[in-house]
Amino acid sequence: MSAEAGPRHGLFIDVEVAPEHASDPGLARKLEEACPVDIFAAADSGVEIVRENLDECVLCGLCLAASPPGAVSVVKLYDGGALLERPA
Ligand code: SF4
Repeated sequence: MSAEAGPRHGLFIDVEVAPEHASDPGLARKLEEACPVDIFAAADSGVEIVRENLDECVLCGLCLAASPPGAVSVVKLYDGGALLERPA
């Protein structure tokens, strides 16, 4: 067990972007616009996850709707790591 440095983020929710999509600037901008609680930031290098906002996630699924299948995963850590489903 390693000691954790700094504040702990994402106790309830984790958001992951698949490596093959993380450097796509177009996707980064779409995600930045889609998320109502600013979990995504469009950086020069592509998609950045704003970790201090992770637990603000409202499970709206807009990030999933704005990205190709499998590009973004919203993980419910409080629910055994269940994934948020893409909106129908
Ligand atoms: S589910 Fe909604 S609030 Fe959560 S990361 Fe995606 S867009 Fe943001």
